[in-house]
Amino acid sequence: MRINHRWHQILGSSNGVPLSNAVDCNAFGLETSAGLVMFDAGAGIDPVELHTAVAAAGFANGPRHLFLTHGHADHSGGAAHIARQYGSVVYAGPLTAEWLAAGDEERISLPAARRAGVYPDQYKWQPLVIDQIVDDAAAIAIGDAEIRPVATPGHSADHLSYLVTIDGEATLIAGDAIFAGGTIILQDIWDSSVAQSCESIRRLASLSFDAFLAGHGSAVLSGAKSHVAEAMQRVARLLPPRNFV
Ligand SMILES: [Zn+2]
Repeated sequence: MRINHRWHQILGSSNGVPLSNAVDCNAFGLETSAGLVMFDAGAGIDPVELHTAVAAAGFANGPRHLFLTHGHADHSGGAAHIARQYGSVVYAGPLTAEWLAAGDEERISLPAARRAGVYPDQYKWQPLVIDQIVDDAAAIAIGDAEIRPVATPGHSADHLSYLVTIDGEATLIAGDAIFAGGTIILQDIWDSSVAQSCESIRRLASLSFDAFLAGHGSAVLSGAKSHVAEAMQRVARLLPPRNFV
């Protein structure tokens, strides 16, 4: 689904309309002068369905570059399928890269999520060797886009958001760090942290961006900082922002 002349939503659901498997996170595509850059990969539950969704978005040749926000299977599970099918260069933070390479399901809390019924029992998370490890020390230039990783742990220990600037407009790929309405997702998993989530909200409040595209729920196409301000009202009172779910 086209968001504007640069951005597309490729996976997940948009205003309640499913674009791909119900388990998939929202995944976004950016048209750059160096080809399509995709952010997050969905769960990869059904590779055929995944490739159909990528083609339906208008990108039968897939992304040239794929950035992952964190290791949770609904964001990273499709990455191996995408890399294999399209030859995409895959980028992730150091912990996500380590866990994906090892196929370490415990670190991404997949057994717990299976027990909670989030994934089917037979779901297989595909290991993958990440091509390029990124952290928030340096921005990455891809064609006419600048992509700046922003460490935003709390939802998980390995979480990165990406501040993307193109045509002079800044858009935050928020992953699961913040959602519309200034909400967050904290779960009963080993690396979910109230303190880190609040610190990450403070970090996002210090950045400039007009729009943010989150891993679940609605895209925020303007006035993004007012949503961050809602979260900050809670953080300023030493409370975690309200939970998205
Ligand atoms: Zn997550």
